[in-house]
Amino acid sequence: MSFLQVRNIHHTYFTKDTATTALSDISLTVEEGEFVSFLGPSGCGKTTLLSIIANLIKPTEGTVLLENKPVSTLKNDIGYMLQQDYLFPWKTIEENILLGLKLSKQLNEKTKTNTLNLLKQMGLNGGIEKQLPKQLSGGMRQRVALVRTLATEPKLLMLDEPFSALDYQTKLKLEDLVSNTLKAFGKTAILVTHDIGEAIAMSDRVFLLSPRPGRIYKTFEIPKELK
Ligand code: ADP
Ligand code: ADP
Repeated sequence: MSFLQVRNIHHTYFTKDTATTALSDISLTVEEGEFVSFLGPSGCGKTTLLSIIANLIKPTEGTVLLENKPVSTLKNDIGYMLQQDYLFPWKTIEENILLGLKLSKQLNEKTKTNTLNLLKQMGLNGGIEKQLPKQLSGGMRQRVALVRTLATEPKLLMLDEPFSALDYQTKLKLEDLVSNTLKAFGKTAILVTHDIGEAIAMSDRVFLLSPRPGRIYKTFEIPKELK
């Protein structure tokens, strides 16, 4: 059985006088340790699909199973990295990370040590960890966001356009850093992007979505020699 199973998802948004079908008949599977991308133009339903998989919205139809369990029954199993880092501005980097663990009730000596080591591995040490988010560049803040996500040890990571606010050079560096880090931890991840270069650089497999309503138009593997 596949690690993640997405079965026959349809989703329609209803507002007062309109109905927008964002997704139509999406079925896919993702294996443990795989890194996949949802690639497609703006409005094709990528964020909707990610939100359904993460149980943030309930689909009009269909089911999502993670390790054979409906995602609606899971807790702390899915982590996020978004375009904005959502760090608390008045807390230091270290406090932000530890707060993430505390909020998910996972703060103990072991997780604290692991997390502080991870900060070091990401180059967020030597005093940087005692700074406030606004003192760091965008690239450094996204490293913090990655550490905060990994600290809670999610089984599945969701990355929704995580680099779109960064300059090109920083983005290229972070693409490598994030994909290498997730591979090293054996994490399963889904990247949402409209950037084909990013999808090629980071993922093993790409689901290309077509718009209105979003459907899987094509699925393709990224050959290792393109990395
Ligand atoms: P993408 O992430 O690929 O840009 P979205 O999932 O954000 O696409 O949106 C897919 C479609 O659903 C778009 O047509 C969008 O306008 C519509 N949509 C998204 N969120 C809502 C909402 N909360 N209410 C109504 N329509 C929405
Ligand atoms: P990147 O994230 O691609 O390395 P950045 O512009 O984010 O690019 O950072 C460039 C370098 O500057 C980093 O490798 C880091 O060593 C240093 N740096 C960034 N922000 C800070 C900071 N607030 N304090 C100390 N060093 C920093």
